[in-house]
Amino acid sequence: MNTGNGRNVVVVGTQWGDEGKGKLVDWLTESAHGVVRFQGGHNAGHTLVINGQKTALHLIPSGIMRPGVTCYIGNGVVLSCAKLLEEAEGLERAGVRVRERLRISQACPLILPVHAVLDLAREARRGAQDGQKIGTTGRGIGPAYEDKVARRALRVQDLRHPERFATKLRELLALHNQTLLGFLEAARIDFGDALAPYLKNGAVQFEPVYEEAMRHARAIEPMMADVSRELNEASRGGANLLFEGAQGTLLDVDHGTYPFVTSSNCVAGNAAAGAGVGPGALHYILGIAKAYCTRVGGGPFPTELAWETPGTPGYHMSTVGAEKGVTTGRSRRCGWFDAALLKRSAQVNGLSGLCITKLDVLDGLPTLQLGIGYELDGARIDILPLDADDIARCKPVYETLDGWSQSTVGVTRYEQLPGNAQRYLQRVEQLTGVPIHIVSTSPDREHTITVRHPFLAD
Ligand code: GDP
Repeated sequence: MNTGNGRNVVVVGTQWGDEGKGKLVDWLTESAHGVVRFQGGHNAGHTLVINGQKTALHLIPSGIMRPGVTCYIGNGVVLSCAKLLEEAEGLERAGVRVRERLRISQACPLILPVHAVLDLAREARRGAQDGQKIGTTGRGIGPAYEDKVARRALRVQDLRHPERFATKLRELLALHNQTLLGFLEAARIDFGDALAPYLKNGAVQFEPVYEEAMRHARAIEPMMADVSRELNEASRGGANLLFEGAQGTLLDVDHGTYPFVTSSNCVAGNAAAGAGVGPGALHYILGIAKAYCTRVGGGPFPTELAWETPGTPGYHMSTVGAEKGVTTGRSRRCGWFDAALLKRSAQVNGLSGLCITKLDVLDGLPTLQLGIGYELDGARIDILPLDADDIARCKPVYETLDGWSQSTVGVTRYEQLPGNAQRYLQRVEQLTGVPIHIVSTSPDREHTITVRHPFLAD
């Protein structure tokens, strides 16, 4: 579909990530000329199923699967050239043309091996100290963002200037190797085989990092771009753009369950800053929410169930929903849908509409619980608090609804949903104050109910 008037849609996760954004982004790409990543790194993980083929993408926008769509990596993304090229080569082996259609912002900070080393060392120390790991993916995303904010990051544009790159890299390694030494005195840390070539006597070596970066530079150079300028020009030319958020709102570094969060802003507003367009260019904000709730890694989760116990609703969600991370293979914790959490998400993103995914996973549960608020220190509240310690003390308040026994798998029309499924969705709308515009009923692109299409103007 081409609406002909340059409309821009932002897709964000409204929970703790893994809401099924990948499928929806892919589905929406049908109406887009460009797809833009604006935050995060290769810690995102989308699974797409196209013609029964599963494809996992971590960094390259999933729009790459559609010929004719240009994909952009905005300045808000931290970039591992090694991972990007690995992913590009994998896609090209599968017959997908990547290099002609991928544009990478020159302003992206680089993730270097030293960042993954620091990430693993810190998480190991946290684990040894108090057992309170953040649950990072160990890929260096957090340390790379720290360097960005500290104004010492090497950026994609530095790859064009070998001497400048070398000087900055020497300074960066001198600083980080000192920190590493301190960690290694306190504990033995296993960095694994992948990082071994860069390490000697507990320090990251200049030569292997520099030489590899220069090799990458040659491969990346043709894709380097002024992404902000290209996006603004495309918009002026009438192109529809899709801004693809990674992770989820409750993992946002400001608005999430801090410190159990990712290192970037995942909220819709960052689509503007992380890509270089004005906030007025974001016309429609689609919030993706699972029909229940999941979370990977540590941190509070008020509606969490005993998802490891066979025969329980949580176990049903975990197994029927196949709740394992695409990027890490870690099991996701499962629990009931939390409308009070969604309320916070709706507020900080300014959601235009909701897409409820994985409704089919709830098929067959006789009763469903909807989290409508919490009890905290004897008081009743109806929105997720800001302080992670407060969230951990929240006792969820539930409303019980009847489930449905019919299968909703593959349903494509709202009226064909069982009455109780429709009532469940209506209650979610009432409680969150956001209209449901899309419902997803299987991983397949075609199995999608459209109440209102985000790319159609109001
Ligand atoms: P993302 O990071 O938000 O894209 O989410 P993931 O890709 O990590 O996880 C979503 C998983 O759910 C993927 O395996 C999808 O194929 C799958 N999925 C997406 N939508 C649906 C749906 O409506 N029903 C079912 N059963 N699975 C879905």
